[in-house]
Amino acid sequence: MSIPKFIDMQAQRPVLETIQAEMSAVSSDFDAAATPAARLAAIRRWDDLRARVGTWMSLVGLRFNQDTQNEAYKKDRDYRDELAPKLTNLHNQFKKKLLSSPHRPELEREFGAQAFALWDQDSRAHSPEIEKQTVEISRLGAEYTELLAAAKFNFRGETLTMPGLGKYTSDPDRDTRHEAQRMKWRWFADHKAKLDEIFDKLTRLRHESARKLGLKDFIELGYLRMHRVDYSQADVDKLRRQVQQEVVPLCAELVKAQAAALGVAKVMHWDEGIHEREGNPKPKGDHDWMVARATEMFDDMGYGLGEFFRLMTEKGLMDLKSREGKAGGGFCTSFPTWGVPFIFANFNGTKGDVEVFTHEMGHAFQSYSSRNQKLNDYHWPTHESAEIHSMSLEFMTWPWMDRFFKEDAARFQRVHLIGSLMFIPYGTAVDHFQHLVYARPDATMAQRHEMWREMEKTYLPWRDAGDLPHVPEGGFWQQQRHIYLSPFYYIDYVLAQICALQFWVKADENRPQAMQDYVKLCARGGEAPFRELATGAGLRSPFEQGCLSAVVAKARDWLAARQ
Ligand SMILES: [Zn+2]
Repeated sequence: MSIPKFIDMQAQRPVLETIQAEMSAVSSDFDAAATPAARLAAIRRWDDLRARVGTWMSLVGLRFNQDTQNEAYKKDRDYRDELAPKLTNLHNQFKKKLLSSPHRPELEREFGAQAFALWDQDSRAHSPEIEKQTVEISRLGAEYTELLAAAKFNFRGETLTMPGLGKYTSDPDRDTRHEAQRMKWRWFADHKAKLDEIFDKLTRLRHESARKLGLKDFIELGYLRMHRVDYSQADVDKLRRQVQQEVVPLCAELVKAQAAALGVAKVMHWDEGIHEREGNPKPKGDHDWMVARATEMFDDMGYGLGEFFRLMTEKGLMDLKSREGKAGGGFCTSFPTWGVPFIFANFNGTKGDVEVFTHEMGHAFQSYSSRNQKLNDYHWPTHESAEIHSMSLEFMTWPWMDRFFKEDAARFQRVHLIGSLMFIPYGTAVDHFQHLVYARPDATMAQRHEMWREMEKTYLPWRDAGDLPHVPEGGFWQQQRHIYLSPFYYIDYVLAQICALQFWVKADENRPQAMQDYVKLCARGGEAPFRELATGAGLRSPFEQGCLSAVVAKARDWLAARQ
């Protein structure tokens, strides 16, 4: 099928009754099938239906994020959010049929065991009984997104959005970034009541859903929803200890070195992201210039990246500029009907633009590389595996960083590596925090803010928020959209970062081998669970004792050599 330009992409709005009819036809055809070929044909029709609806859902979600004030987009999104749990239930009925089918061995030979592991979790993670809660959770999530997207700041005479203000929160001038951070956290303090109310409702609804499904708490449900097929809470707990023992002390040293480099007595919260007195390196051009540099870089990298990036630009599959009403953050989505992804970001002139860009390009390239996988379930891997592609590409593009940063490329690499290490305790804190929250669903919001303070003491002991509003009272986590919108989607970044650092080491030792392993991993999509994908790409599982300490030691040495 030829790929239209993004502006011409249309997908038919699905109607429940029509989908129900299609699904019951698929289901009875599967039952009536007398041969393996006929059974596969029924499954393919189901998969095509999922691709069509998935494309429509992606378009609806994306367009809402592009313009959160657009009434028609909001209506579509509300329609989608009400329809989604009903569709999930329809699909789950069919998944259950496949799971208990006498033909399962034959189907597993065709599709592999991973789909069945995913479907088994899906069948336990949803039920028509929790439809009301599911719709309400989506509505609260949208309320959070709209609230943040509507934030406006008047900073020194300039009207800014939250991402726009972000540029000043990392300004080389200490007073400027301090003032910008005060303004940002003042907004959070002013909106605390609303932010607390949304989260309190979300927590209770999530717990209620878990209990209705017969699970102990939302932690169990969260693991099922995140499709944690080959690791458990106990594995994550062990990793947490390693982070506390091996990474927190290294980061504490890095923060000391950072204070010296900045010439300050103490790194305050508003200094945390700044690593040099002159400020962080910045890309040396605007949006269009960066896209041109990226084209050269990907052409040069080879392995199909250049052709792919040209396709993305030609078809208009990127929206990178920040503007009023546009949702914050960066993400990659895809349109299965045409087998192409879309990149969403909010450029603001900082080094973060390059990082978000190479990160989302990693997702996009993976999604494109695995577009011909046998099932929609394999198009995207589970999240911790998916973040390997994105976080590793941030490192694999290092040799081309001079195109974006010119003479500051080496400085960028150093700051990028430090940031990647500093992320590990933060990411673990966000994950650990959610375990605490959902283990005690009746806690008050004050107690939840206290839980976050505990996490900061454990994982970020150097943090000093000084006179900033909101942060000293344990409110920092309220800016972390995953906690509101995608619960338990966070340790994924930690696991993937440990894999990405391994790719960084490997690329330094043998670049062609690293690239081949990377490209092969991308093409596998989600056909296997996390540990299998990681080890299949020649990496050690981050859960393996000693894996974390080995990469941390490499990074420490690399940094020590460049003091
Ligand atoms: Zn990502």
